[in-house]
Amino acid sequence: MKKVLLLKFGELFLKGKNKKDFENLLLNNIKAKLSSYEFKISYTLGRMVVSDYDIDDEWAIVEELKTVFGLIGISKAVEIDTSEENIFSYASTISLSGTFRVNAKRADKKFPLSSMELERKLGEVLLNHNENLKVDLHNPEHIVYVEIRFNNKTYIYHETIKCAGGLPLGSAGKALLLLSGGIDSPVAGFLMAKRGLKLEAVHFHSYPYTSEQAKEKVIELGRKLTKYCDEIKLHIVSFTKVQEQIHMNCDSEYMITIMRRIMMRVAERICKENDLGAIITGESLGQVASQTMPSINVTNSVVSLPVFRPLIAFDKEDIIEVAKEIDTYDTSILPYEDCCTVFLPKYPVIKPTIRRAEYNEKFLNIDALVDEAINTKEVMVLKRD
Ligand code: ATP
Ligand code: MG
Repeated sequence: MKKVLLLKFGELFLKGKNKKDFENLLLNNIKAKLSSYEFKISYTLGRMVVSDYDIDDEWAIVEELKTVFGLIGISKAVEIDTSEENIFSYASTISLSGTFRVNAKRADKKFPLSSMELERKLGEVLLNHNENLKVDLHNPEHIVYVEIRFNNKTYIYHETIKCAGGLPLGSAGKALLLLSGGIDSPVAGFLMAKRGLKLEAVHFHSYPYTSEQAKEKVIELGRKLTKYCDEIKLHIVSFTKVQEQIHMNCDSEYMITIMRRIMMRVAERICKENDLGAIITGESLGQVASQTMPSINVTNSVVSLPVFRPLIAFDKEDIIEVAKEIDTYDTSILPYEDCCTVFLPKYPVIKPTIRRAEYNEKFLNIDALVDEAINTKEVMVLKRD
């Protein structure tokens, strides 16, 4: 008998012919995540089994696996050689109280008892060994699972730990997250990574109007995301010149609109240069003047790549809840200013038009500003510590 972890995955089953690729990617992601531990992993009949690890590492391994996108649950199980004697003798050691039922699956039909018979007999064993246990077939507190597999192995477990879900990281391609120091953008990155997108990130700063600490904060946020997202290439771009030029040459109510249009253009250039297929932002409809429908339309119109805004329909409280879950919240609320707050106009336009945005941009040399911004780019690769 040995302790193992049974890994359950979710939507992979829906993927038809691509299923094998998804599974291989998931397997590789798991191996990478657990690279500092001794373990074996096998894959049979829609289940991955992690085994042969040091039992002292079990907790840490489970914590790591909880952050692997594509897994929906981990069950701490025992693996035993299939025989009635082994199964019942193990069952007699299970200690439970409250209500329960048994759920048996018999892939190996050579096993002499039917699933129903096995459930009944196992139920009796459990009741005999646990004084405070009662059967409840409909709404039990515990379900004891028994799976009899073809390879002469049986798995028994009664506890499943919830994992991150989603699709394996990288299965949907790669995209660029616009990462500010705020609460929203790290959450947006997390949610898109959960749908299988590997992330790179870009941050715009306005040093010396913004501080070194503001930049450090963003690096820390990116690092926190690596817990789920593997390593992240972070492009850090100076926006100082762009903002000074806009401030000097454009209508103040259009400042933010023009700034965001230039951010999008720079982001698209970074995407093209790094083979990234989409831009991700933390925008939420109506949250601020630059996130009204007309504003989003006017910023969106300068890029041709898809722009993913996973938070578009989220309330702030819901965003905060996820930020706390992924541990970015405490860093996000540190009080350092973002470049968007430098030269902030008193009355930013709420219903901008493309025509007026284009008119304002006539007073700037947009291509040169984009080139200059790109030339200031520092790149760092954020890894998990
Ligand atoms: P957040 O909490 O993510 O900072 P926000 O509510 O402050 O969002 P805005 O400042 O309007 O909203 O920014 C909207 C989105 O634009 C952000 O979620 C982010 O994706 C992007 N963004 C804003 N500022 C920057 C920046 N300095 N660098 C990179 N991306 C940015
Ligand atoms: Mg912000």
